[in-house]
Amino acid sequence: MTEREHLFLKLMEECAEVQHRISQLLQFGPDEIQAGKAETNIERLRAETIDLLVVLDMLETAGYIQKISHRDFQTAAINKREKIAKYPELSRSLGTVMPQIPLQDVEKQSEASYNKGWNDGLDKFIYLIKHPEQIPTLVAEVERKRKNQDGG
Ligand SMILES: [Mg+2]
Repeated sequence: MTEREHLFLKLMEECAEVQHRISQLLQFGPDEIQAGKAETNIERLRAETIDLLVVLDMLETAGYIQKISHRDFQTAAINKREKIAKYPELSRSLGTVMPQIPLQDVEKQSEASYNKGWNDGLDKFIYLIKHPEQIPTLVAEVERKRKNQDGG
């Protein structure tokens, strides 16, 4: 195996590790901490994604992959966001993708500072089932409040 092949092998491994972390996250949720581990599933996915970026950087530095410029990234980001936004609409219209009910977020926020006059997380959950059109607004509000709490 050449050094080049070895780096591509490492990229493949990191892709597999990212896939595995996503699988665990979808099975057990973003906040679950596996027995014997210190980080949540979402933290571990982030760490593996960083590993993947590091190997990509190594491939760029070695000249095996053309350097990804900020402009490359911006152009791809616009195209990819459009593509990703397009297919869930089709899936929703076919009934294979349902709106996300952020139960964990809603319950967490009801226990913490977020309070819009409901008694508890279950009230909010029931409200969201009755008013799914309010989900994006509530999610945005929860995310904004969380960002403020994090000082970001
Ligand atoms: Mg890794």
